[in-house]
Amino acid sequence: MDKDGIWKNALAALEIETSKASFAAFLSKTKLTSLTKGEAVISCPSLLIAERLKKRYSEIVKKTLTDLTGTPYRPVFEVNQTTPFPSLKTTELGPLFTKGHNRSNLFSSYTFENFVVGPSNQLAHAAALSVTEQPGTLHNPLLIHAGVGLGKTHLMHAIGNAVKEREPEAKICYCPAETFTNEFIEAIQERRAISRFKKKYRSVDLLLVDDIQFLAGREATQEEFFNTFNGLYLSKKQVILTSDRHPQEIRKLEARLVSRFSGGMVADIQPPDLDLRIAILKQKAKERKVSLDDQVFLTLAEQVAGSIRQLEGTLTQLLLLSQTHQNTPPEKLVETLALSPKQTASPMIPTETILTKTCRFFRVDREALVGRGRERKVVLPRQVVMYLLRELTDLPLEEIGEVLGGRDHSTIFHGIRTIEERINKEPSFRQKISTLKQQQTS
Ligand code: ADP
Ligand code: MG
Repeated sequence: MDKDGIWKNALAALEIETSKASFAAFLSKTKLTSLTKGEAVISCPSLLIAERLKKRYSEIVKKTLTDLTGTPYRPVFEVNQTTPFPSLKTTELGPLFTKGHNRSNLFSSYTFENFVVGPSNQLAHAAALSVTEQPGTLHNPLLIHAGVGLGKTHLMHAIGNAVKEREPEAKICYCPAETFTNEFIEAIQERRAISRFKKKYRSVDLLLVDDIQFLAGREATQEEFFNTFNGLYLSKKQVILTSDRHPQEIRKLEARLVSRFSGGMVADIQPPDLDLRIAILKQKAKERKVSLDDQVFLTLAEQVAGSIRQLEGTLTQLLLLSQTHQNTPPEKLVETLALSPKQTASPMIPTETILTKTCRFFRVDREALVGRGRERKVVLPRQVVMYLLRELTDLPLEEIGEVLGGRDHSTIFHGIRTIEERINKEPSFRQKISTLKQQQTS
């Protein structure tokens, strides 16, 4: 995505987050002129607008850009010059295109300050804090495991941000295990790239690898990761890992990695209790600068007992609803929110489990399942995966599409509908799906 594309997407997101009037008055006439050295320069049509944006919208613009690019950029609002802006060469575009190296790619909005602590995440939080105090020595690696949307990624970035604040020169690299895998595969295809790859990951001071369950079954990547890990560990560099389950429960993960991963500190995060859910909702509302009645927080927290991501999603839904129904108080709107039954506490089933078990059930290759093939043999299991992911996890359609090899959300929607219709019409099919569904939790 180039900077125009990035800004277009950012504006689309900001349009939802801000009021219609302020969007039209302040944001709609802006342009992203450069993205360099951690700064996003945004040109504005007047000084008044630039000042207003700086004062009121810096945080939200920053968060939106971070979410979009995975890199924290500090927004700088400038007044539009009459002379045309010099065009930028791609090499000047910074970390978005050259990735990693000396700069960190942390999400600046995930900090310790806005991580709410309760009984369910206390242990992981304490371990994370102690790692920031003595990186590389006390708990190495630190592995945090928990179900989807319970704060693993947040806590991991909080460590990164805290270390960065204390040691601005530290080389910190955040890397989803999937990215590590993909980059490794690309690097081995192009011989010279492999030494660059090795150097990139072995020269960091702090390595954050998210969702290591993704390494399951990928032998060559595991070998490379093992070596990277050892290199860092021996030079007392801190490694933080997250996983959707305890490493011992990750199938097809080499024993030596399981033992390395469990060799430091292993901390889990459990689903939040009611009090913590309320506290988190209040924190999220504060971040968005909205105040809501205590009753609203209580109703939301009581009804959404699954992941924190879900909780946040429901709050967003409520806020969107209040924008379109400005005359109805939120306490009334919250009652109209359609909270589907699956939003009441059901343990989250890892995406990986659903994929693996469905492939085994239908005897299809995982590669084929996420691939482009359109034969009936793969289309049916693929649609069943879509259906199960919708039923058993809280992933939005977009993310289900991502899991299934980057498919469009409308394709996913169609797939789910197809399966639902068949379930309604064919008792034998219903039985089959229900058996498969039970297998996921066993
Ligand atoms: P995971 O990586 O475990 O799937 P994330 O770290 O992405 O989950 O968290 C999902 C969302 O919930 C994020 O927006 C995060 O900020 C929020 N969140 C999770 N735990 C907390 C917490 N204890 N306090 C505040 N926000 C939290
Ligand atoms: Mg995560």
